[in-house]
Amino acid sequence: MKALVKYRKGNGFVEIREVPVPIPEEGEVLIKVSACGICGSDIHILHDEFPNDPPVIMGHELAGTIAKVGSRVSDWSPGDRVVTELHTAACGECKLCRTGNQHICPAKRPLGSKTDGGFAEYIKVPERLLHKVPDNVELIDAAITEPTAICIHSILEFGKLKPGDFVAILGPGPIGLISALIAKRIGAGHIVIAGTNKDEAVRLRAVRKFGLDAVVNVEKENLRKVIDNLTAGIGVDVVIEASGSPAAINQAVQICCRQGSIIAIGLTQREQIPFRWNEAVIKETKIFMPFSSTWTSWELALQFLSERVIEAKKLTNRHPLEEWEEAFDDLENGRAIKTLLTV
Ligand SMILES: [Zn+2]
Ligand SMILES: [Zn+2]
Repeated sequence: MKALVKYRKGNGFVEIREVPVPIPEEGEVLIKVSACGICGSDIHILHDEFPNDPPVIMGHELAGTIAKVGSRVSDWSPGDRVVTELHTAACGECKLCRTGNQHICPAKRPLGSKTDGGFAEYIKVPERLLHKVPDNVELIDAAITEPTAICIHSILEFGKLKPGDFVAILGPGPIGLISALIAKRIGAGHIVIAGTNKDEAVRLRAVRKFGLDAVVNVEKENLRKVIDNLTAGIGVDVVIEASGSPAAINQAVQICCRQGSIIAIGLTQREQIPFRWNEAVIKETKIFMPFSSTWTSWELALQFLSERVIEAKKLTNRHPLEEWEEAFDDLENGRAIKTLLTV
């Protein structure tokens, strides 16, 4: 089968290769992949800025149909439409696993970085990671479940966003846009989203149709002034940092109210970045740094897809797997919101 493989450590070293179809073992299923979304972390893996163990098939945001089941698989059958969490090899025995936090189990070997992933015709995964795709959701569209689960875990489960909160979202990438839609769904009071010139053509344009309180290009407008005007100088209740940009992160404390929250989703490209430490202490800022997704966040993500809170067709474009290079480049340069590679 064809698969997109990171074959060596370092910047680059990714290509389509012909590899054997995996054989599902005890407790595993083989999934025929329909589509797999390109994540920010895939771009980090391409540049070797995110942990990865080559040679490995990349991709973890997949949806597909079960083609075969291994021995002792009782709950799933060929033909079932599924999406899969990526927490392969979580031990099930450590304190984290026993308290529902297998997504940060030290033994975990995530799909697409340390275990073969979904940019391929087939993938095998343990059945315990599967979720059923609702009948009214198209299989290709379901590839957006994972980033939706990330946002749900980050802003609702971990960051405790509440109805009525005034929210500022930094970064109008897929995580920022999905976060805006979720915040709206749970009744956030006001939502402001910010991006840069690079985001203007596609991402800011898309988000202007969401009906938010303000869409700010920080290279043309002063975000702090916009927020001071909207909040009478008090600042927002919650900043959702979804840009990874050191400048944006540095501003997060400034635009947050006293006892407000900063929820940081995702990585930056640098090991260390400046942060307004003293200002954050004086304001008693709550800082949340969630990672990955939980079983519960996947279930709610699928409900939001089924309810059309999240509509994949409005957030994604599609390329065949063979065009991965162009698709990665478009995403890295803000020429698309989110791209699904179809197989
Ligand atoms: Zn992802
Ligand atoms: Zn564990």
